[in-house]
Amino acid sequence: MKKVDYIIVGLGIAGIAFCETLRKNKKNFVVYDTGINHSTVVSGGVFNPVVLKRFTAVWKGSDFLEKAIPFYEEISKQLQVDLLEKTPIYRILNSIEEQNDWMVASDKKALFPFLSSEILKNENTAIKAPYGFGKVLECGKINPSKLISAYRNYLNNNNQLITEAFEHEKLQLKNDAVIYKDVSSTKIVFAEGASVVHNPFFPTDNFVGNKGEYILIKAPELQSEAILKGPLFIIPQGDNIYKVGATYSRDDFSKDATDEDRKAIVSKLEKMISCDYEVIDQIAGVRPTVKDRKPLLGSLEHKTLLFFNGLGTRGILMAPLLSEWLYNFSEKNENLLSDVNIARFKN
Ligand SMILES: Cc1cc2nc3c(=O)[nH]c(=O)nc-3n(C[C@H](O)[C@H](O)[C@H](O)COP(=O)(O)OP(=O)(O)OC[C@H]3O[C@@H](n4cnc5c(N)ncnc54)[C@H](O)[C@@H]3O)c2cc1C
Repeated sequence: MKKVDYIIVGLGIAGIAFCETLRKNKKNFVVYDTGINHSTVVSGGVFNPVVLKRFTAVWKGSDFLEKAIPFYEEISKQLQVDLLEKTPIYRILNSIEEQNDWMVASDKKALFPFLSSEILKNENTAIKAPYGFGKVLECGKINPSKLISAYRNYLNNNNQLITEAFEHEKLQLKNDAVIYKDVSSTKIVFAEGASVVHNPFFPTDNFVGNKGEYILIKAPELQSEAILKGPLFIIPQGDNIYKVGATYSRDDFSKDATDEDRKAIVSKLEKMISCDYEVIDQIAGVRPTVKDRKPLLGSLEHKTLLFFNGLGTRGILMAPLLSEWLYNFSEKNENLLSDVNIARFKN
């Protein structure tokens, strides 16, 4: 029987962030993952501490950002792949009133480090932005599919990845350990994203799931190096390719791309750009979203079973710090904030 400190189920951004926290703390672990990732891989990979609809700060945004940037810098070095780009976001402003709202927001204490107070003039004729842009300063993006594939290779080379579906009914719970097939572990962390709804140990009542779709376009005349934010995000991918989206479909756990969403994205895209483009692909994924929009960390009645879920729309930003909170809860008996503690849903 192989003995480890942790079994991790799921290798999206939650699983990867927890693996890294364990590695830094010299804990042994193995990961079970289906090899099919629908959320982290599909995601835009954007990290941004500002709610760009309302010009407000994301809950604990600056704390999350402070951990996220060094995390992605370090993991890029460790895996020897270029993952992180500190690409600015240009929020397209729609009126004089929005310009004023932006200026007021940029002066607020919580937003001052993140929003440039200057309104940028649009000089790109391919972009429809007569009222210019507000520039988000501390933000950027990672390449999520590169991260997943490089991290899978890394774990495979260390014999720490088992590519198969975890079968919950085969998990045996002992007082101070769990046993799964030929592995005995002190604890198990379920980081299964939206598929957690199939986990019999997970209370599904407050879990929503929110499907999102992107189209990929080729638009040689667009020439935007910044991430554009209007009714949608337009995220540069290199080689004149842009990810455009995403849509939101609550309580939808299906994973197929739809004609309906493609049409909705195209109609909004045409409000943002005026150049020619070709749709070259369409992708869909399900965000692991909770009713109160906060993460789900910690354990319920079985202390050996931990959850790392509920990353919602901002997993890339939040996972590095959340993984530390979960580790400190598990190993150092530190309390979790009640906002993120899964125990808030105990009856
Ligand atoms: C269209 C879209 C755009 C997004 N854009 C952004 C963005 O720009 N920025 C941002 O921060 N967030 C974004 N998100 C949200 C982000 O993708 C999620 O918050 C994050 O990826 C969730 O990560 P996770 O690790 O919890 O889940 P996932 O990435 O879904 O990973 C879960 C893993 O668990 C595995 N798994 C599940 N069950 C089992 C099992 N029984 N056995 C073995 N393996 C199992 C799955 O195969 C999967 O690999 C977006 C999401 C979508 C859908």
